[in-house]
Amino acid sequence: MTFEEFRNSSAEKIYENCPTEQKDRGTAFFQADCLIKHFSEKEYMLCAKEEIPKMLEEKLFCALERKLSGEPLQYILGEWEFYGLRMFCGKGCLIPRPETEFLVEYMVKNLPKNARFLDLCTGSGCISVAVLKKRPDATCVAVDISEEALFYARKNAEYHKITDRMDIVCADLCSYLPTGDFDIIASNPPYIRSCDMKALSEEVLCEPHIALDGGDDGLFFYRTITERFSPFLSRKGLFAFEAGYDTAQGIKEILSSSGLSVDSIYDYSKIERVIIGKKN
Ligand code: GLN
Repeated sequence: MTFEEFRNSSAEKIYENCPTEQKDRGTAFFQADCLIKHFSEKEYMLCAKEEIPKMLEEKLFCALERKLSGEPLQYILGEWEFYGLRMFCGKGCLIPRPETEFLVEYMVKNLPKNARFLDLCTGSGCISVAVLKKRPDATCVAVDISEEALFYARKNAEYHKITDRMDIVCADLCSYLPTGDFDIIASNPPYIRSCDMKALSEEVLCEPHIALDGGDDGLFFYRTITERFSPFLSRKGLFAFEAGYDTAQGIKEILSSSGLSVDSIYDYSKIERVIIGKKN
């Protein structure tokens, strides 16, 4: 079998296997290309007519099977690009998503010189690692309750050579108390309403439920973080949160009722994606 034959047949199977509302040929071909590129370490365009070596063919079919059984592509590849950087991920951590890049961008631009920040619910560590990579003067504490997720945070920190500036802590943010204060306390916490969890796609439900479920109104973590961590903001410190497509209003109310002044940033889909709560 040639790479071209594998590409066409696997893209077709991926397309057929997709739920009707998500069917898209471009995406199916893109995903087939990702599998080829990852496992063969070759660009498809350069090897299309070549025969696939037997060992590689087995690997590709095994990966395709996993994709067709509903596993997210990012877990099969074991990595995904985030803020232009390679991030390792796998079962046990939330997949880094492009909308989170808005929060990273805000932090990269707004952290003062030699800043210290706190990243709560760090998961794969993608936010901390990306910010530290772009801001060599900054340091951070990254916290998550899941050791499984922190396995990836450590791996990402090591790969990007920033372990000396990223303190990784396994703790429950309902009881964790940091030391010192922070210029930014950031979080992309779980924010799906518990009642909406069952409506998520099969693929999203492969991700850890504790990384998605934000309690009855989806705001549990924003409330807890604002209440518990306000004392740890530096003099001009601020909270920077990622919001879901309809949670911005609720988050703003939590922040302003704690006496913080509120601001927000829209993403390209005109969703209020980053909510900021500044000390006055
Ligand atoms: N901070 C990680 C991310 O943005 C994980 C977030 C989470 O587990 N809810 O991808």
